[in-house]
Amino acid sequence: MARYVFITGGVVSSLGKGLASAALGALLQARGYTVRLRKLDPYLNVDPGTMSPFEHGEVFVTDDGAETDLDLGHYERFTGVAARKTDSVSSGRIYSNVLEKERRGDYLGKTIQVIPHVTNEIKDFLKIGADEVDFMLCEIGGTVGDIEGLPFFEAIRQFAQERPRGECIFMHLTLVPYISASHELKTKPTQHSVKELRAIGIAPDVLLLRSEHPIPDKEREKIALFCNVRKDAVIAAPDLKTIYEAPLAYHREGLDRAVLDAFHISPAPRPNLARWEDVMDRLENAEGEVRVAVVGKYTQLEDAYKSIAEALTHGGMANRTRVKAEWIDAEIFEREDPAPWLEPFDAILVPGGFGERGTEGKIKAAQFAREKGVPYLGICLGMQMAVIEAARDLAGVKDAGSEEFDHEAGAKRFTPVVYHLKEWIQGNHVVERKVGDDKGGTMRLGAYTASLTPGSRVAGIYGATTIEERHRHRYEVDLRYRDKLETCGLMFSGMSPDGRLPEIVEIPDHPWFIGVQFHPELKSKPFAPHPLFADFVRAAVEASRLV
Ligand code: GLN
Repeated sequence: MARYVFITGGVVSSLGKGLASAALGALLQARGYTVRLRKLDPYLNVDPGTMSPFEHGEVFVTDDGAETDLDLGHYERFTGVAARKTDSVSSGRIYSNVLEKERRGDYLGKTIQVIPHVTNEIKDFLKIGADEVDFMLCEIGGTVGDIEGLPFFEAIRQFAQERPRGECIFMHLTLVPYISASHELKTKPTQHSVKELRAIGIAPDVLLLRSEHPIPDKEREKIALFCNVRKDAVIAAPDLKTIYEAPLAYHREGLDRAVLDAFHISPAPRPNLARWEDVMDRLENAEGEVRVAVVGKYTQLEDAYKSIAEALTHGGMANRTRVKAEWIDAEIFEREDPAPWLEPFDAILVPGGFGERGTEGKIKAAQFAREKGVPYLGICLGMQMAVIEAARDLAGVKDAGSEEFDHEAGAKRFTPVVYHLKEWIQGNHVVERKVGDDKGGTMRLGAYTASLTPGSRVAGIYGATTIEERHRHRYEVDLRYRDKLETCGLMFSGMSPDGRLPEIVEIPDHPWFIGVQFHPELKSKPFAPHPLFADFVRAAVEASRLV
């Protein structure tokens, strides 16, 4: 069975626990171990699928169709291990499982309580797939001391207690603030946070200290003494220039060493960090820069398009170029001419999204890219908008639109070139949806295969004619417009294997114009940039040279 590292946070939220967990995963891999990362979130939503990207950042979709926390994106980007449905759970899901069992009578008339019923449910979740890897890294969302988090903390305490000695360790991430008036680093918040943790029965084995400044030995010694943690296991996690520096930086500070020590693994296998050295080399020694406009809706919160931002960076790394992505609110183009806004850019990306707001602006952005020969990547809604634009402007369907917006408005205002999909094939099964189904459950979610037209641009980019990509959408381009659109120069170059669902459109007679119904950004890694992003950035580099 796997060894477990439980990762908790204290002092303040947003310290980058997900990133630290992901970096530790990468370091254990570098030492030859297999890992899986898991996230336990204390909120009561059953999953983040219905949470606003403004509030919660992007929803990360797994191959097996789970809508999960964006931290799972970090896990995948750092370890390359595809996350599963069972790698993310919330209090809402746990409670909903417990209540379902109670209704079914599974508890045989017992009184249902947080301990043991809720904690048992959490422990069962922790055990899933534990035989498959050497290390299971489990991150607890939120901060120690939060009311919502208590059942999770109690469950991991029990879990460690029940496992053979030495098979579980606790890593705690805190902040060491710097008071500029007195030029001092303050250790007290960390001391208090550890005290809080110990009060609920958890003694941390490793402390990871986030700080804007280097942490001198003296402070580390003090923290070690007051927190009852070995000095070698008090690790500084300084601010970094880029997130991808984390594995090498944390390794230099001794994180992986400390974790293996805590498990009494000695001598530890030597690390091979070549992958991360190459990643850093590409980031630090990039030549030139391209500017990409991302025309979207959730532009105020950086995390709302996390995977897209990362995939663009990876695309830059593949070309040894820096990518400067700039977010533009699509609604602006509903009032203003997009040309002065978009002319300075080497490429345009329209990402996924839900709802009508901003869509006319996205259509304008697609039109600008098509007419001006600017590289265009449309993702999900971005593909649908490109098709609607072509239908209106090239194929003469003047009132082309998506049923999504008509449903929202409760009226029929458009000719639905994009329609509500209610039935599709998954593997050997037919999946059916009704309009009134649960908000969380009505989408085509997860990995689906697409067949690419031999000789098309996308087949060349992928170097394959069968691909698998992740989906998250309800609406679909209507095939009845295919012939009309193809006559106008829009090629349907990727289809579902049964030929019923358009997966990719491209304009062969354009420097680079591709729309995809899926989310390629979810599968891009710094050490394996997604081919679509790599080629999109290559096209942007080419476009920048033409100016
Ligand atoms: N709202 C669109 C749909 O449901 C697109 C979804 C997306 O961009 N992820 O089909």
